[in-house]
This record gives sequence, structure tokens and C-alpha cells, in this order.
Amino acid sequence: MDLVLDKEELDTVVLQKIKGIFKKYNCINKYGICLLHKHFDFSDREILVAFNHSDKNRVTLEVLSESDRTLTMVECMWKFSSSSDESFYYPVQWYCTENIQNINEFISGDVEIFNEVKEVLKEYSYLDRFGIYLIVDDILVRNDEMSVEYTDVESRISEIGVYPLRSKEEGSLETRWKLSDSVRVVAICRLYCNYENYAHVQRHATVN
Ligand SMILES: [Zn+2]
Repeated sequence: MDLVLDKEELDTVVLQKIKGIFKKYNCINKYGICLLHKHFDFSDREILVAFNHSDKNRVTLEVLSESDRTLTMVECMWKFSSSSDESFYYPVQWYCTENIQNINEFISGDVEIFNEVKEVLKEYSYLDRFGIYLIVDDILVRNDEMSVEYTDVESRISEIGVYPLRSKEEGSLETRWKLSDSVRVVAICRLYCNYENYAHVQRHATVN
């Protein structure tokens, strides 16, 4: 009988493989893996932008018109397609900060990393489940704290803030992982998403 892995075990296998790629390219502190999901719709002419409010230690995700994009915004999250041409990755989120010069942003040489990650995701039919994100130290989270995303579906705004650490509970999902450099731990969840109060819970997870 074939060994059937449950979703969580399969996630671990995929993350483990991607960790190998990140180690090879020495980019474990630059990129992480995220769960692809959405809370609300937006059009082709709109973009999702994460605004860093460092004075309040929180980030808000807001929908902007594509034409409102400024030089203080960098791509910070990407989804892969199965195509093998140069458009195999595309941004799904932008990050806005006044200190743009401090951001270790995507460079063309990283395409090689992206390509190898895409191949792993493709192999496991994970192209719609996992994406890649740029690690920016936007929020300070102590060991006894966790970051959680809350979304107002009506106004299409998500807010990521810092809360006391509590055990994983019903209604929240791990959505961003930093692949740990330690041997035993594959990934550290950098963000929980609280979706229990959403009008359209089924929209949340693209989890197949
Ligand atoms: Zn979410």
C-alpha cells in the first residue's frame, strides 16, 4: 500500500525541500514561504499593498489602484505559474516603507532560486497552495508574542498586529513560514491569520 501523507506532513516535506534550496543559495533570511489565500476580490488594475506603521508596530494591507504605485513600494510576495517562460512568477503583494533603502529586495539573480522553488511546488501540485515572500522585519515580535492578521472584508483592509502568544486555535491558520536554520525545526510560523469572523470563510483557504 502506498504511504499516504496527510496535508500537514506533506507541507513539511515540501518546506523541507525548499529549505534545502534556500540553504544552497544562502537566502534563508531573505525569503520565506506563504500560504496563498485571499480574503476579498480585487481587479487587475488594483494591487495589494502592505503599509508599515513602525511607530505602532503594525502593518495594514490595503487595496490600491495600480496607478497609485510609488517608488517607496517593492514587490514582497509572489505566486508561481507552471509556465516555463520568464513570466512564471508574478507579484501578489507590495510592501511600502519610507526606509526602502534598507530593504534587501528581489534582484534578477534570484530568478534561479524562484525557478527551483517553482519546480518543487509543481512536483507536489502546490503551485496554488504556496507562494514565496520577502522577509522584511516590519514587526517586532518577542518570544512570548505572535503576529496575527485580522481582516475587515467589507472595507478590504487587513491589519497585522502583535498579540500574546497562545496555542494554535480554531479559526486561525499559519500563513507564513520562515525556514529555520536549525536542524530539527523546518519552519517557524511568522504570521497567523484569524478568519473566524469572516463572512466568507470558504474563500480563505485555497487549501486543496
Ligand atoms: Zn489571511
